[in-house]
Amino acid sequence: MKNEVWGRVKGHLLEEIGQNNFSNWIEPLELTQIEDGTARFSVPTSFMANWVSRNFSDTILAHLKAANSGASRVSFDVIANRPAPVKEAAGAQTAKAAPAPSRPAEAAPQQRAPLPGAPLDARFTFDNFVVGKPNELAHAAARRVAEGGPVTFNPLFLYGGVGLGKTHLMHAIAHEIQARSPELRVLYLSAEQFMYRFVQALRDKQMIDFKQIFRSVDVLMVDDVQFIAGKDSTQEEFFHTFNALVDQNKQIIISADRAPGEIKDLEDRIKSRLQCGLVVDLHPTDYELRLGVLQTKAENYRAQYPDLVFADGVLEFLAHRITTNVRVLEGALMRLFAFASLVGREITLEMTQECLADILKASERKVTIEEIQRKVAEHYSIRLSDMIGPKRVRSIARPRQVAMYLSKQMTSRSLPEIGRRFGGRDHTTVMHGVKRIEELKSADSQIADDLELLRRMLEA
Ligand code: ADP
Ligand code: MG
Repeated sequence: MKNEVWGRVKGHLLEEIGQNNFSNWIEPLELTQIEDGTARFSVPTSFMANWVSRNFSDTILAHLKAANSGASRVSFDVIANRPAPVKEAAGAQTAKAAPAPSRPAEAAPQQRAPLPGAPLDARFTFDNFVVGKPNELAHAAARRVAEGGPVTFNPLFLYGGVGLGKTHLMHAIAHEIQARSPELRVLYLSAEQFMYRFVQALRDKQMIDFKQIFRSVDVLMVDDVQFIAGKDSTQEEFFHTFNALVDQNKQIIISADRAPGEIKDLEDRIKSRLQCGLVVDLHPTDYELRLGVLQTKAENYRAQYPDLVFADGVLEFLAHRITTNVRVLEGALMRLFAFASLVGREITLEMTQECLADILKASERKVTIEEIQRKVAEHYSIRLSDMIGPKRVRSIARPRQVAMYLSKQMTSRSLPEIGRRFGGRDHTTVMHGVKRIEELKSADSQIADDLELLRRMLEA
């Protein structure tokens, strides 16, 4: 129950505080119990406990209250070496093999000062990363860097939209490097944490320590670097850190939500530095990748709950319908599983639609007739005005019918409405066009391919 409440609350928190804050501060929290009105969270480091409690406890509490969780207080307990969630066996293993570099000092006898990094998620390993067309380059580059050896490109710059696996890949690199070369000092943190550390060091007059720590690592990873855009002194310090490490031939890995050149308010000298290495992007997911991710995650769940079965077509349905990103896909699957484990039966398509109605609705992409006309005109190289004009030659009439067909299929508009948007044609004309394309679709593979391609482009 508590996990379900927390799952819902997390959804609201994500909306309220934004992706960056969410991944840095909320995701690593684990709700251990709600008892006597106190919601207790376990947190991997005391730095994190302080920060979350100072900045987010009110928000978290407000949402817990709204969710009728029974909590009227929140507390954050530091659990040194918190075990990885038991769900993913592979992740737990890696966690043992590759202790996070940010392990709190009290947890391990270390001679060297602990690095001020962020905790690594034990589940974010290469083993758990599903490779497909959209991410294969990024994955290959990440593997390459993780193998170690001479630094060939510096920095590795990974960019792409939210929830496409940037953080996952960075953590995977860190795990792998630590497993292969435990003696290396790997520092992973978000750009926001970099700034926070920097500001703290300035305030506490510990800039020398700060510089010394950041310049003594073997591998530096800074996640979501777009965050420091516009923050002048942080940028300045980042630039110097960056240069010092590059001069020492230390590997740097950076991520951002867009290409270096497109980050606004980022100094030009930093942009050009970032472009010096290898810049690779993670593309939006395609159907195959989504299905692959779903199958892998479903397998993981099933290892834990062997009784729960997915009816045929459920995963395919999800891969078709939830096209936003992997994070949303994962969330949907998690909710479905939580629900199914409560009622304890096969996960049917019907159950899926009911349980995920809100997610499905939110990811519904509303295509307009105008968009369809534009795309189809482009595809067949005819003028947009001819779509709605009077010409009846085949080379124009056929694309027009294709557009009518897609309008009928992909929008909820009625035939008369569609007719009106096609230059005031009668609904019987639209009906005829739709019928004609339906026939051609099974007889003419060229038309079938065109339709599939157009549909994909319009759905993307
Ligand atoms: P980003 O940092 O790009 O916003 P994350 O790395 O945080 O995205 O990924 C969001 C979630 O999706 C994580 O739970 C991650 O494990 C998962 N994920 C993303 N891409 C993949 C993939 N290719 N295979 C498996 N899981 C993935
Ligand atoms: Mg991220």
